[in-house]
Amino acid sequence: MPEDVATNLTRVIYAPIPDDAFADVDLRPFGWAPGGYFGRGCLDCSEGFSGDKRCRRCRACAIKALVAHRDRPRWQSGHEGIPTDRPVWAYFYDNGSGDGQDVTLLRGVSDEDGETFTVDYEGRPWERDGHIVCWIDAQERPSLSVEAVEAILAVLPSEAFDLCLGHVVEDWLHREALRAVVDGHRDAPAIAAAALKSRELKFSRYYD
Ligand SMILES: [Zn+2]
Repeated sequence: MPEDVATNLTRVIYAPIPDDAFADVDLRPFGWAPGGYFGRGCLDCSEGFSGDKRCRRCRACAIKALVAHRDRPRWQSGHEGIPTDRPVWAYFYDNGSGDGQDVTLLRGVSDEDGETFTVDYEGRPWERDGHIVCWIDAQERPSLSVEAVEAILAVLPSEAFDLCLGHVVEDWLHREALRAVVDGHRDAPAIAAAALKSRELKFSRYYD
């Protein structure tokens, strides 16, 4: 092994762990843990690094991944705080839906009340009337997640939401949870378990 590589390796392995605000235990899920092994290439930056044998990332890149995860867009329940100047993704209860698909994941611009959601339809604005169930300020189309289900459940008993719609949204949510199972969604059991918690919520159901 050429001397400079060996020196570099020694330097990397014995470099003290920087005293930053990040705990090793928090970085572990993001691909780095302390250890005396030399990783040849970090998943993100391709640099060599020291750490545990099973590390995928260097410590710096694991920190970046952790921060990106903490700062990720999150689902927000109801229409509170929804931006009205740019499109967001939302689960939207559509008053005009005649095809039995009561709630749809749409990208559009909401009004302040969350009752008009303007989507792009073949290059033209299409105003849909209904209610924002939950929304997320993300570019990429989100998929159903436990976090989304929790945001949906939070709106059901809320005064801000049309109380008559709760049971319709609940029925739709249970169908979506079944669909996640059928589709083999990797979080399907957790999504289904989260969706079933709607039964613990008190809101008007036409049948009780
Ligand atoms: Zn890296």
